[in-house]
Amino acid sequence: MKLFNRLFTLFCLVGATSLLVQAQQHPEKCGFNHAVEYLNQQNPNYKQQINAAYQQWVIEANAKENKNDKSIYVVPVVFHVVWNSNNPQQNLDDSVLIEQINVLNEDFRRLNADTVNMRSGFAPVVGDAQIEFQLACIDTNGNPTNGIVRVQTSTTFGGGFLPDMASIAKIQNTSQGGSDAWNTSEYLNIWVGDINGGSATPSLLGVATPPAGLSNWPANSIPPELTDGAIIHYSAFGRNNPAAMTATVINGRTVTHEVGHYLGVRHTAENTFGGLFGSICGDDDGLTDTPNCDQSQQGCVTTRNSCADTIPGAGDLPDMVENYMDYSDQTCQNSFTNGQIGIMRSVLQNERNGLLTSFALSNCVVGIEENMLANNVSIYPNPSNGIVTVTTNNEEKITVIFFNSMGQSVQPTLIGNQQYQLDNKGIYFVTVQTEKTTITKKIVAQ
Ligand SMILES: [Zn+2]
Repeated sequence: MKLFNRLFTLFCLVGATSLLVQAQQHPEKCGFNHAVEYLNQQNPNYKQQINAAYQQWVIEANAKENKNDKSIYVVPVVFHVVWNSNNPQQNLDDSVLIEQINVLNEDFRRLNADTVNMRSGFAPVVGDAQIEFQLACIDTNGNPTNGIVRVQTSTTFGGGFLPDMASIAKIQNTSQGGSDAWNTSEYLNIWVGDINGGSATPSLLGVATPPAGLSNWPANSIPPELTDGAIIHYSAFGRNNPAAMTATVINGRTVTHEVGHYLGVRHTAENTFGGLFGSICGDDDGLTDTPNCDQSQQGCVTTRNSCADTIPGAGDLPDMVENYMDYSDQTCQNSFTNGQIGIMRSVLQNERNGLLTSFALSNCVVGIEENMLANNVSIYPNPSNGIVTVTTNNEEKITVIFFNSMGQSVQPTLIGNQQYQLDNKGIYFVTVQTEKTTITKKIVAQ
């Protein structure tokens, strides 16, 4: 998007010195705020307009959220590790990727140990999002996968003082030296690579796209080059990463923050760069229970209370450096508020519902019960001519359900004891349930 690049260039001219200082002290987490700030300089009503639109969307999202649905939502993830031949450190080990999934599960289930560091005044407004993440077990072709794609590249992505989104977006395209997305409505795609052009002092830690078509993100602040998902700089990723940057403590919260955006939540304050454009109390995330603050926070300062609040059940709260959607240091972040959680769950129930109905997590074997059942169930032959037999060594009663590749349940003809006739050729998923657990296996009728 040329306009976007031009805005960055112009913005660089007007604020380069201050920005440089800020960027050196505190690497930026997101690429979006720059454009919003600049657009507001050009049109003083711009932020007011988008904030009004956002708040309207918040009301709509809250109305759409099914608060009776207390289910735990599980989001399938695929990591695209795009590593440059010049720096094999970028080819992060599986253990780093898996540990990042663990961080997400702790943070979105409020199981992270550092919640004890949260100031007690925030207790009434924070919660467990009941959202979990799991590496995909089935790829877009219906084949088993570990949810990790590795691409070796000679392409340089990003670089320069301000983020060049067109260059960064190449990491999302195989033909441009990156890795093509998997079906973005069924997988959370997260690309990991160098998006700072090989710079030793990265200025951009990550970028994510919010759900499409939401009024809470101005259309012209999101580069259209970006494919849906999140892109994370390799040294800002994970918490057991041998290649982690040294200037900033990295404990996996870059991804927590970007996934928050992916699920529709904005920053706690959109006024970035330490108030370069002044302090603005009304410029926040539109949520009642995230404390209003005049600017994004840097560091872990707990003495600021920049704007007055009237939060139900909590009153006036200080600026919340504990919030994952602030720019504060990762070491002091530990919480989402219930308002943020409501938005994310509404997005999963509506705009991103394809993640929850995806077959990406079929046949994932995760626990002892599942392992036992998986070992005791046989579905054969596979591939078949359409006639399959399902047997089990278990004494327990089992229930067998067939799904087609569209996720629709199909009822094959029972033609013998435990023998089924599938009417059409194609990929099927067979779910076997006992009282204790469920497993799913993929079969092919040809
Ligand atoms: Zn952000």
